[in-house]
Amino acid sequence: MSISRILIANRGEIALRIHRAAHEMGIETVAVHSTADADAMHVRLADHAVCIGPPSATDSYLNVANIISAAEVSHADAIHPGYGFLSENAKFAEIVEAHDIAWIGPKPEHIRTMGDKVAAKRTAGALGLPLVPGSDGAVSEIGEARAIAAEIGYPVIIKAASGGGGRGMKVCESEDQLETLMQQAGNEAKAAFGDATVYIEKYLGNPRHIEFQVFGDGKGNAIHLGERDCSLQRRHQKVLEEAPSPVLGEEDRMRMGEVCSKAMRDMGYRGAGTIEFLWENGEFYFIEMNTRLQVEHPVTEMITGIDLVREQIRIAAGKPLSVTQDEVEFKGHAIECRINAEDPFDFTPSPGKITYYHAAGGMHVRVDSGLYAGYSIPPYYDSMIAKLIVYGRDRERCMMRLKRALEEMVVEGVKTSIPLHQELLQQDDVKSGNYSIKWLEEWLKTREA
Ligand code: ADP
Repeated sequence: MSISRILIANRGEIALRIHRAAHEMGIETVAVHSTADADAMHVRLADHAVCIGPPSATDSYLNVANIISAAEVSHADAIHPGYGFLSENAKFAEIVEAHDIAWIGPKPEHIRTMGDKVAAKRTAGALGLPLVPGSDGAVSEIGEARAIAAEIGYPVIIKAASGGGGRGMKVCESEDQLETLMQQAGNEAKAAFGDATVYIEKYLGNPRHIEFQVFGDGKGNAIHLGERDCSLQRRHQKVLEEAPSPVLGEEDRMRMGEVCSKAMRDMGYRGAGTIEFLWENGEFYFIEMNTRLQVEHPVTEMITGIDLVREQIRIAAGKPLSVTQDEVEFKGHAIECRINAEDPFDFTPSPGKITYYHAAGGMHVRVDSGLYAGYSIPPYYDSMIAKLIVYGRDRERCMMRLKRALEEMVVEGVKTSIPLHQELLQQDDVKSGNYSIKWLEEWLKTREA
């Protein structure tokens, strides 16, 4: 199948990112947008644009009927969902395919399995990925919960099977809290996700978040593109990501990478995916798999030289991966800073009009953003407005370049997280790569005090 026109079912920097890959392949693009985004850069750059509804995402970027209609009227032969919105909606993927439109994403059944955390964990275990010790599936009886928690040892974490975005999780320190917390977790999960199912895991004290990028061609071939370390998080949201991880050696990288790509081969996985692990004392523990492109994918592109969106499009068109595992070379170091329109230290959102904008530049500096002077950041969507990605031949040079690039970056009219990143880069633990997923929140507390 050949793809000649892609509808991009997303907005902001990721819509631009996909547009760029498509144009470099000689493929036309169709932007969709809400009324609030009529002046957005992704709309300006695309070859065609279709308005799909009012500002609220439910009525526009999540509006399946309007997006499919937009694809039909614009004669798009493929849809790329980006990340967020409909990217992990198996039903949407099925509808797209049922309309004879190429879905630039994994097979719907794999999206569905990995979207259900209990099913995902079971599948991951069967595929040989190392799991966090815990219940084998859902737990509903308090007696069963007590027995499992006693066996794996406290603290434990109670998680919602349908959870996402770090929500629906409760850490339980001892048996006397277990019943109450199980009930609370179930109620919250029911309210947030319409599903009260919970399961139990060992709570790891001080892990890092390390994830592997994988790619499958859907025909039994798969490769990995190494790992990303995303341990600097606030409320389970990633703030800064880097590749390679400062703690992983070449041997562990290739060993775990092979475990991941073998799992994808056995599954017959198609497209891009990320297998997320917690890492503690040299051991990996699977937490989830994301069946889509990730926000932090550019750090992998920087150290491998492989355009991940181009690979996604090739695979959706039925072509093989453009590289074999042996041809993948890891070189240098890359770091990405997520720049949000928000107060850098109290994190209150700061939408509004950009009065002045200057993007950082120079050797090995990449800015993925839809910003321009005069643009008004709408209040309806995610607060991320830019990603600054920097490459260096080693971690130290990368950090020096990042510091320089952050100095150059000017965004006026709204508050941004640039000052947070500048302060982070001065911390000894960040300089040395000595941080876990708890580090950032603890540092923010000491900073306030
Ligand atoms: P979500 O889908 O809601 O993002 P995840 O399972 O990916 O949920 O977990 C989100 C975050 O919660 C992880 O990145 C980690 O910070 C923390 N977390 C999850 N499971 C555990 C665990 N067993 N022990 C300690 N922290 C955990």
